[in-house]
Parts: sequence; C-alpha cells; structure tokens
Amino acid sequence: MKVLITGGSGFIGGELCRRLAAHGHALTVLSRSPERARSKLPEGTRVVASLDDIGDDEAIDGVVNLAGENLFTRRWSESRKRTLMASRLDTTRELVALCRRLDTTPSVMVSGSAVGFYGDAGDAELTEHSSARRKDFGYRLCDAWEQTAREVTGQGVRLSIIRTGVVLGRDGGMLKGLWPVYRLGLGARLGDGSQWLSWIHIQDMVAILMRALETPGVEGIFNATAPQPVTQRHFHRALASAVHRPAPWVAPAPLLRLGLGELSGLLLGGQRVYPRRLEDQGFTFRFPSLEEALDDLANTAS
Ligand code: NDP
Repeated sequence: MKVLITGGSGFIGGELCRRLAAHGHALTVLSRSPERARSKLPEGTRVVASLDDIGDDEAIDGVVNLAGENLFTRRWSESRKRTLMASRLDTTRELVALCRRLDTTPSVMVSGSAVGFYGDAGDAELTEHSSARRKDFGYRLCDAWEQTAREVTGQGVRLSIIRTGVVLGRDGGMLKGLWPVYRLGLGARLGDGSQWLSWIHIQDMVAILMRALETPGVEGIFNATAPQPVTQRHFHRALASAVHRPAPWVAPAPLLRLGLGELSGLLLGGQRVYPRRLEDQGFTFRFPSLEEALDDLANTAS
C-alpha cells in the first residue's frame, strides 16, 4: 500500500512507520521539519512539508492521521488550548481536502483520538458505546477532532477512529519521562491514586493501527486500550516494582492543581475504558496486563 502518515515523526507514528516499512508499504510522511523527520524515519520514506506537495494524480491508498501538539508540555492557557485544537483540526481538514482533490480517493483513513473523549469519568466502565461523562477540554478536543475526520466518509473513504489510552513505550509518551524518575526512586502517586488509567503497550497500539489500515471492513470507533485498565495507585506501584525501587512518595492533588492548573485534570482524573469492539472482533492483545507490559519494557533498551 502507499500510505500517507501525519505525525509520523512522533512516538507512535515513528513506530508505525518502522512496522509499515518492514511490511513493504511505501511511506509518505507530513512533517513541519522534514530534515529532522527524515533522519528518524526508515530509509526510502518520502517526507513532505505540505500536503500541497502531493500531486492530484498521485496514488495514496491509505492515510493515518496522528499529528498534534503534545498536551503535557505547557500549562493550558486559552491560547495553548487553541494551539492544541488547531494542530489537530487544521491537519485533519487539510487531509479531508486532499482526499477530495486526489484523482483517485484513498480507500481508508485511520484517525487519532483519545480516551479523553469520555471526559473525567470516575469509576464508570466505558466502551465505545458510552457517551462523555464530562464535557471538559479533553472531550471537546477529541470530539472536534473526530467530527472533522468524519468528513472523509462522505467521499467513500473507510474511516477508523482510534480512541487511544496512555501509550507505554520507552522511546516516547508518558513513560519516557517517568522511567528515569522511577529509576531514581522518585516516582510519586498522583493525589489519592484512585483515578483510572487506561493504557496500551506501543506494540499493541501499532498492531491496532495496522489492522485498521489493512483490513477491509474494519471501520468506526475503536478504544485502543489494554483490556485491564488500572488505578493510578496500581500503576505507580507496578512501575516502581518494574524498576525495583520503593514507591513511598505522593504528589498531593492541591499541589498539582496549583502547579499545573487545568492540565492537572489529565493526571488527577481519568477513564476506565474497555476495548469492547476490538475484543468482539477477535483482536488479541500481546500485553493485556500492565505487569506483562512493564516487564517487556524493562527488558527493552531505550
Ligand atoms: P508525539 O508528540 O510524539 O508526536 C506528535 C506528532 O505531531 C509529531 O511527530 C509532530 O510532527 C506533529 N505535530 C506536533 N505539533 C504539531 C502542530 N502544531 N501541527 C502539526 N503537526 C504537529 O505524539 P504521539 O506519537 O505520542 O501521539 C500521536 C497522537 O496520538 C497525538 O495527536 C496524541 O495527542 C495522540 N495520543 C497519544 C497518546 C500517547 O500516550 N502518546 C495517548 C492518546 C492520544 P512534526 O514535528 O514532524 O511536524
């Protein structure tokens, strides 16, 4: 397949590109920094700085849309929230326009979203059929991202939307920062630790994206989360145990709220999400439990 990927230079996209290239797919990646992206991507990957660089007569069979500003790097001022929103919506709109412009419409688009779609949901057990429990910024961001992606279906494109949990890998995402902190014995439980954390191993995440791209008939919303979500307290203890360090520390909720403002909601709230549709369709998780996932990552050089 000829596959166009946005966010291909990132943590998830980079791993996806390596797997796609190994499967013999031809890759085009959209990046704001083509030179930097090229140095990270498999040999032979074409990197474009703008979708305008793609001609009307080019053949693109599938699109994977992962681009978006990182949610964790700065406090959420109103202007930061606009940037987080625009970085996802503008890219998605440009992809929809590209699909419209190409002489031959791509057959499939796989577009990102997050379990934040459900809002801070307490202990509620959530599947793809659940609605948002709180219409907070995480919900508004994901909902707008999903609605924009849905515009491609009018053009006959098969669309999968992937509501992703916290992706665990050594080379990016949350664990890249946390692993060394826990190795130093400085990891901390967040607040009372009762909030739910729906996570997924990077290898299962990539397998879900590949399946959505390559399998005819696969479409709609999918929760990309392991079948065993955990509380933050469980996660804290499991990570400390994976790096063989004690876990006595607590980051008090008021301190996190003071330091991080609204962004603290991502750490102090959460979602208890189940991958019902993947399981119903027979998807097998390589890493269903957190302990198996962390054990694997502990043996992975970063
Ligand atoms: P990364 O931060 O590692 O990569 C994001 C990519 O998006 C980068 O490669 C970058 O490409 C591109 N990007 C960043 N800012 C902008 C911008 N302003 N405009 C256009 N493109 C931009 O993210 P991940 O790989 O971890 O995640 C991929 C997507 O999945 C993100 O949208 C994220 O929100 C979502 N997600 C991730 C989760 C996780 O745990 N990692 C959990 C749930 C959802 P370049 O610099 O080359 O232009």
